[in-house]
Amino acid sequence: MRSAFFFDRDGVVNRSPGDGYVLRQEDFHFNEGIIETLAFLKSRGFVLILVTSQQGVGKGQMTQAALDEIHAYMQSELARHGAAFDAIFACTCLADDPHCTCRKPSPEMILRAAAEHDLDLTTSWLVGDHDRDIQMACNAGVFHTIRIRGDKPLQVAAERVLDDVRDLLPLMKILLLTPDDQGPCPLS
Ligand SMILES: [Mg+2]
Repeated sequence: MRSAFFFDRDGVVNRSPGDGYVLRQEDFHFNEGIIETLAFLKSRGFVLILVTSQQGVGKGQMTQAALDEIHAYMQSELARHGAAFDAIFACTCLADDPHCTCRKPSPEMILRAAAEHDLDLTTSWLVGDHDRDIQMACNAGVFHTIRIRGDKPLQVAAERVLDDVRDLLPLMKILLLTPDDQGPCPLS
């Protein structure tokens, strides 16, 4: 079994579109520091999984093909840096769809990823910028959670809270330090 990093998309991987949706590739802008963070985690052997809600499809504001195109662009840019996601899970249902079982905070997208990629959720992490992201991780049994403090109310406790996506990589480098990184003890 492997460990994974689950990432929310809007507000974490790319700049938040506010109350709307990223409808076109031109409106998808990577957050500063995220590509380096993903590349670092991948180099440490983590499986990278994107878990995103894209209700704009359900609302008819964009097609599934348009969403796929945006994700293909995102993946090609990330791949140039060895940082592409291993899988993408998107809930495109309407928030009030009574038949939807995948919308956050449902653990369904994470549990599907775990089954398909043989993931150990107790050693996995989730990074999100919304209460629903953190609650989804808790519901799925993902042990470690990191909340990016955005403009949304913060009511579900995360293991760690960061002010900015740029703070992720320095934190990860400390938390995932291995003996090899430390070099010789200066006093020995
Ligand atoms: Mg978000």
